[in-house]
Amino acid sequence: MTLLAVRNLVKRYGKAPVAAVDGISFEVGAGETLALVGESGCGKSTTARLAMRLLEPSSGQVVFDGQDITRLGGAALRRVRRRMQMVFQDPFASLNPRMRVQDIVAEPLIVHGIGTGITRRQRVLSLLDLVGLSPTQAGRYPHEFSGGQRQRIGIARALAVEPALVVCDEPVSALDVSIQAQVVNLLQDLQARLGLSYLFIAHDLAVVRQVADRVAVMYRGRIVEIGPRAAVYDSPRHPYTRALLAAIPHPDPAHTAVRATMTEGPETGQGCRYAPRCPFVIDRCYRDDPVLARVGRTDVACFRAAELPETAAVMAAAMAPAAAQRLALYASRANSRE
Ligand code: ADP
Ligand code: MG
Repeated sequence: MTLLAVRNLVKRYGKAPVAAVDGISFEVGAGETLALVGESGCGKSTTARLAMRLLEPSSGQVVFDGQDITRLGGAALRRVRRRMQMVFQDPFASLNPRMRVQDIVAEPLIVHGIGTGITRRQRVLSLLDLVGLSPTQAGRYPHEFSGGQRQRIGIARALAVEPALVVCDEPVSALDVSIQAQVVNLLQDLQARLGLSYLFIAHDLAVVRQVADRVAVMYRGRIVEIGPRAAVYDSPRHPYTRALLAAIPHPDPAHTAVRATMTEGPETGQGCRYAPRCPFVIDRCYRDDPVLARVGRTDVACFRAAELPETAAVMAAAMAPAAAQRLALYASRANSRE
């Protein structure tokens, strides 16, 4: 069952010529985790805020639990908001430093008019317990907690109103690597216990490997590849997905070096927006704008997705630009012979 569906979402900020989110569609099923991955500035947070209806889309549609909420306002929107909550990236900025933890966690209950003083107090204590904090810490202030603990507070606050969907916007990006796994484990544990759906945002593929059921890779306002986790990690088709995977720390330094060749480049006016950075670019990529289409087990926006060889060979080629050019040339010739 689909819990959240967004269709052709577009968001333009002010008079900016390029849309921050430029026609995005995806679904999140009940109890499912969809990971949204892409480098800083590609439009992940904007997408999250559009899905939560914290931002008005320039165009497109948001459907939550079968209800079109794109134009919803007032009390009707508040009712829907109760079922979708957000966990933010920065556990230092997202908690009011002058509020006690018990009041931070109780706030959504008060906003939505849930419970009485006494039941709210009980609920707060059980929420703290749920996220692995001690109820004895309820009277403390955010600065008395570590980064990981603060993120647990943020999670408790999000869960207070018993949402069905939790949008986690880079929930572990600000945390030490050693703490990241603990928070990710907690989110997974909570999902299993409470049947939550997650839209889980991260800027690299390493973080979401463990949690995602499906992965959507974003590049400059678009989804360039989307599919089941195993397919995206084991047989990625888009050159940008391959670059992101290559950027995951790897014992072989040459492997990591791919990032430099595949994730830097100028803006392009038309055609594929990844073309200026793509080692497999052909003329058509500068002319036409590829749309998502099924290749193998994922949907990919790349003219060359079907013809590029499996990951390992492509990575090796990308490390040697000359070899990549030869490969590209070879493949385009092979193509024109057909
Ligand atoms: P991400 O979360 O992937 O880092 P964002 O969604 O925050 O990306 O931003 C996408 C693009 O939109 C960026 O170019 C950013 O500068 C721009 N942007 C984000 N928020 C605003 C805003 N409130 N006003 C104008 N531009 C914005
Ligand atoms: Mg962001």
